[in-house]
Amino acid sequence: MKDIDKESTRGHNSVSANLTPAIDREQMTIQFYDTPSRKKLTFRPLEPGKVRMYSCGPTVWDYAHIGNFRCFLFYDVLKRYLQYRGLEVEHVMNLTDVDDRIVQQVNDRDDGTLDDYVQTYIDGFYDDIDALGILRADRYPRATEHIPEMLDLIQRLIDNDVAYERDGSVYFAITRFPDYGRFAHLDTSGMRAGARVDTDKYDKEDVRDFVLWKAWVETDGDLAWDSPWGRGRPGWHLECSCMSMTYLGETFDIHTGGVDLIFPHHQNEIAQSEGATGKTFSQYWMHSEFLNIDGVGMSKSVGNNMRLRELRTGEVAGKAAEDVAGFRYFVVTNHYRTTLNFTREALDGAIRARQRLNRLHGRLLATAEDSNNDDTDWAGAIESARSDFIEAMDDDLNAPRAMAAVFGLAGKAERALSAGRITAAGATMIRTFLEEVSAVLGILGKDEGAQDQSPPNPELPEELARMVRDRQQARASKDWERSDELRDSLAAAGVTLTD
Ligand code: AMP
Ligand code: ZN
Repeated sequence: MKDIDKESTRGHNSVSANLTPAIDREQMTIQFYDTPSRKKLTFRPLEPGKVRMYSCGPTVWDYAHIGNFRCFLFYDVLKRYLQYRGLEVEHVMNLTDVDDRIVQQVNDRDDGTLDDYVQTYIDGFYDDIDALGILRADRYPRATEHIPEMLDLIQRLIDNDVAYERDGSVYFAITRFPDYGRFAHLDTSGMRAGARVDTDKYDKEDVRDFVLWKAWVETDGDLAWDSPWGRGRPGWHLECSCMSMTYLGETFDIHTGGVDLIFPHHQNEIAQSEGATGKTFSQYWMHSEFLNIDGVGMSKSVGNNMRLRELRTGEVAGKAAEDVAGFRYFVVTNHYRTTLNFTREALDGAIRARQRLNRLHGRLLATAEDSNNDDTDWAGAIESARSDFIEAMDDDLNAPRAMAAVFGLAGKAERALSAGRITAAGATMIRTFLEEVSAVLGILGKDEGAQDQSPPNPELPEELARMVRDRQQARASKDWERSDELRDSLAAAGVTLTD
């Protein structure tokens, strides 16, 4: 655990607390969409003021792609928002450092250990999250450093008669855990024999059973650990049950991941954890939607697996720093439960919207002189923007609606600045509010914008122009829901509409 502890000390760069409009437990107004409940639930942490959160992390067999980072950015905003609301967050995210792909890659090479192989991608992962301004988790436990804890968990499952050994492998017996399938809303009675929840080819009691411990096979080479059932390695689902409970306790507050993990991964985690402890595993489950590229899902076979590294070279839309910050802006200002379509235009749009806010921030920073004809009630305007921002984020992290509130105030500030009608005190208040928003979303650059005083580009890119036309159409056909949705998305892209 030495390395983990070392990493964890680098993790604490949390949001400044003095800006935080804190809430107490009785007045909790935050609602999150809980996957198994299929509805929004009021969020109440088990321990008042403290949130324990676990996130499924990357498999470090390669550099992570921008789809993975969509997911990790969702974790980041969730954590930052909870901190902004005055809650302490203990965040654990695993690194899967052993799986079929890693075993194959290591064995295909003549030299180097598993540790050497994965270290490249672990370093790459930290480097990428830092570039994206993702706050470090408190811990990044690695599967291979928790084998004893995993063996204990398997033994508990065997003792509880929900797991069995067969030829050196250990399986979870789905039929002996009556709740299996409830989380993912599966009808297991209708699951035909042959419906796989696991892809390995070992001999199980029931084809639906999934593996907890995989017996060594020749292709594993030296990559195996000792266990009471013989040499082998842990199953993927097991590591998350084990490492989350090791660090966060048998019941914790929030478990997060991408939607692809709902089944079988999270269903299996629940079966393993609750099958061992008899207690609720996680109180809330939150899942982020996928990111596609040019309308197509990312996959090796299509060849569109864009790694964050490629954005970091600046080859996609222009300057590297802007591409990365623009990518972050694009992801965090959209709703985490909508499928994101990453396109060159979308990235350009996000870069522009972000620049607009940074430009405004810089101009406000440079406003030193008092105007004597500023009679705007900035405190009132900010209070109203802040309460709209909080109301939107409290509503299952509705970032597009939250950004509409921010841009409403930003537009007002830009007009006042251009007319030379703003006091230094007003400018400071607005600037501080933008920084407050950025503590949650991470959308302001450090030194950007101060010199650039040009007005925002008035020409709308085609994608945004089309959204404006769609919205006019939605209004004409009285489709208010669609119309509001488009208005919020446009606002998040920096386009404020006045009807
Ligand atoms: P992996 O490294 O494959 O274990 O994935 C790490 C995380 O990224 C998981 O939580 C996945 O749900 C998530 N993920 C994988 N592909 C995508 C994608 N295209 N869009 C969004 N999230 C993804
Ligand atoms: Zn997991």
